[in-house]
Amino acid sequence: MQVSENAVVSIHYTLKDDNGATVDSSIGKEPLSYLHGRKNIISGLENALTGKNVGDKLSVTIPPEEAYGNYDEALIQVLPREAFGGVEDIQVGMQFYSESPEGVQMITIKEVNGDQITVDANHPLAGQTLHFDVEIMDVREATEEELQHGHVHDGSHHH
Ligand code: ZN
Repeated sequence: MQVSENAVVSIHYTLKDDNGATVDSSIGKEPLSYLHGRKNIISGLENALTGKNVGDKLSVTIPPEEAYGNYDEALIQVLPREAFGGVEDIQVGMQFYSESPEGVQMITIKEVNGDQITVDANHPLAGQTLHFDVEIMDVREATEEELQHGHVHDGSHHH
C-alpha cells in the first residue's frame, strides 16, 4: 500500500545537517515507525513521503519552517539557580525537559553565571535546514487503537 493518511509507515533514515554531518540515523537500529498524517514527524518529511511505496528511497531537503522552526531569540531566558532544584552541578550544554503551556520542551543550558542560568528553549535543530536520506521499509494499516491514540504501538511503546 501507499503511504497515506492513517498508514503506519516504517522508515530507515539518516539525517544530516547543512555541513553534511550526521545528526541522527536509524541504520543499525530498528526502523522508525510512525502514524502518517498525525504530525508524529516533521511536516516536511511527512509531505515528502506521501504517496510513496515500500522500497522507495528518497533524499529530501527540508527548510526550518517545515522542520523544527526558525531560531527564536525570545526563547532564550535567564533563570535563577533555584529553578533547577536538585541539580547540583549545572553546566553549559546540559539539557533538561521542562513543562510549558505548549507542552514539554527541551531546554539547553547556554551560560552559567553564579546563580543566573541562561537557558535556550529552541529545539536543538531550530533554524537548520535538514537533509534526510530515507528508505521506506514497511507500510501497513493502523489499528483502531493506534488511530484513537494518534501514534504507533510497535516495539517499546505499549499502553
Ligand atoms: Zn498509545
